[in-house]
Amino acid sequence: MGIERHLNDTVHVTNLEWFVNWARKSSMWPLGFGLACCALEMIATFVSRYDLSRFGMEVARPSPRHADLMIVSGTASKKMLPAILRIYEQMAEPRWVIAMGACACTGGIYKNYAVVQGIDRWLPVDVYIPGCPPRPEALLDGILQLHAKVMKEQSIHNPRVTNIKVAGR
Ligand code: SF4
Repeated sequence: MGIERHLNDTVHVTNLEWFVNWARKSSMWPLGFGLACCALEMIATFVSRYDLSRFGMEVARPSPRHADLMIVSGTASKKMLPAILRIYEQMAEPRWVIAMGACACTGGIYKNYAVVQGIDRWLPVDVYIPGCPPRPEALLDGILQLHAKVMKEQSIHNPRVTNIKVAGR
């Protein structure tokens, strides 16, 4: 990049797609929304010890219209599912989903008719975090994995499609 050398590092040249991805991953806003025991670990991740401020996302948004990251933390019951899907649909585009914990990823120990056997049957999950429950460090790692994924997205030429899936596959 010859021009940067001549301008003494006062100007940085990049492409628009990289810049859009960087802006998105640097200003991701999570929705404050927990379903079961995993939610307590998610809440613990927001305390000062883990310093989510580093990623510009220390405040959980109370409204889906202000949020673009849904962390499904805990057991998703079928009774709760319509509310989860409605909140997801009300979130801003582009939006991302983290499935936190064994229950959100697969139904966990609840192999019964009342529990969703993996929220990815309904929502386009970007990152899965295993564990029962995962510790805050695991959620932090999941967030970093999501940031890395966002940086590889083709945000301009091939924008994300994040509709609710057809269930029961
Ligand atoms: S994965 Fe474990 S800790 Fe998390 S909601 Fe399920 S039972 Fe609770």
